[in-house]
Amino acid sequence: MIEFSHVYKTYPGPVHALKNVDLRIDQGEFVFLTGPSGAGKTTLFKMISAYDTATSGDVKVAGYDLLSIRNSQIPFFRRKIGVVFQDFKLLKDKTIFENVALPLQIRGDKNPAIHRRVHEVLEQVGLGHKHDQYPEFISGGEQQRTAIARAIIHQPGVLIADEPTGNLDPRLSEEIMDLLERVCAQGTTVFVATHDHEMVKRRNKRTLTLRDGIITGDTK
Ligand code: ADP
Ligand code: ADP
Repeated sequence: MIEFSHVYKTYPGPVHALKNVDLRIDQGEFVFLTGPSGAGKTTLFKMISAYDTATSGDVKVAGYDLLSIRNSQIPFFRRKIGVVFQDFKLLKDKTIFENVALPLQIRGDKNPAIHRRVHEVLEQVGLGHKHDQYPEFISGGEQQRTAIARAIIHQPGVLIADEPTGNLDPRLSEEIMDLLERVCAQGTTVFVATHDHEMVKRRNKRTLTLRDGIITGDTK
């Protein structure tokens, strides 16, 4: 589902953010990515989402070869993945319903189908009763659940989450991780970057460690 071979990413400076990264994550796996600040985690996620391109090497995600992908194909590729951020990135002037519906509206789905699917996903994340609220008036945990709903609304094969619990207290963090595990159990590949070593230990999942742009660990 995600395959990197000999991937390098160099920013101007030069900063060698990724150095000869090889990794393979299969369909339906749940994997953590850990490593100190500046290790290259966000860079690796940007390579996966085609938000930026590798300097060299091969990146294959959800059946697309991101080295040779045409710009015109990128919107189709993006439908295969979902992205969740630490700071939620919800639109303040739109309701929970409208935030979650957005990817389907952009894709051109018809309204009745959008309504059905948004309500289904809001139930799944436990927010069915909040659909008319605005993001500022719900808790941080609820905002992150809204962001996850938006990220999975189009049933992506891969969900990447960059520090999804970084702004949440321990109890809400556990709720969010439970939700991500349920998303994975339904067949989505889930890849989560986190600093929270205690949580990683408790969850007992495959864990990749990045240090200074190099994968230094791949353990369960
Ligand atoms: P992490 O997410 O693990 O904190 P990043 O992927 O954000 O690490 O950063 C890896 C390295 O690349 C750091 O040294 C960072 O300063 C550098 N970096 C990230 N983005 C850029 C950029 N756009 N231009 C230059 N250097 C960058
Ligand atoms: P920064 O140096 O702050 O990361 P960038 O220009 O690299 O600046 O990123 C711009 C915005 O895109 C940031 O808010 C960043 O969080 C967001 N972003 C980071 N990773 C991804 C991703 N994988 N897909 C889409 N947007 C991303």
